[in-house]
Amino acid sequence: MKSIILIAPPAGGKGTQSNMLKEEYNLPHISTGDLLRGASKDDSNISKEINKIMQEGRLVPDHIVMTLLKARIEKDDCNNGYILDGFPRTVEQAIAYENILKELGKENGYVILLDTNKEDAKARIANRVSCPKCGRVYNNIIEDLKPQVINQCDDCNSALVHREDDNAETYEKRYNEYLEKTQPLIDFYKEKNLLYEVDNNVDVDYTFSQIKKIIGE
Ligand SMILES: [Zn+2]
Repeated sequence: MKSIILIAPPAGGKGTQSNMLKEEYNLPHISTGDLLRGASKDDSNISKEINKIMQEGRLVPDHIVMTLLKARIEKDDCNNGYILDGFPRTVEQAIAYENILKELGKENGYVILLDTNKEDAKARIANRVSCPKCGRVYNNIIEDLKPQVINQCDDCNSALVHREDDNAETYEKRYNEYLEKTQPLIDFYKEKNLLYEVDNNVDVDYTFSQIKKIIGE
């Protein structure tokens, strides 16, 4: 088993597939957002630096993210692989990540592109609702992602909300931004023969079955 990077447009089902992978293979799920939140809580120098940057509303520079990421994937629970969420987003980050893997003597992982039809994703996003309390995401038009009781969180019973920017017009813009930003990263991994493309337009289970075939364990 190796590490897995999933690339998908907004509402492309990345979160759902990550959760399925996590359960099926018992892999840790590493998101840079969680790493930063975790690291800002202790008393270390890096924590002070992160807090300062976040208070000033600046973007945390790559070198800090890389330091945290390296420390995280060095842990034993990552020996059998892990799922990287929201990273890398740029070619620069991909190169820095590759260097970390080299330093740690780890193999390059699978980079899996969820090839997603824009119109389908648009319909999904218009029906996406989430729990304001625990953050769980649901979808009213996807069988596996529907809440048990309409408009109510299965986990904590809170009323579900629909994000205002989850609509067709803003989706168009977000999708185009995604394409523009992500294409260089896709090309980078394609050239290195690390990219796998998966048809993400049938249903959640079909997408997952294809990912399992790629990983093959
Ligand atoms: Zn909830």
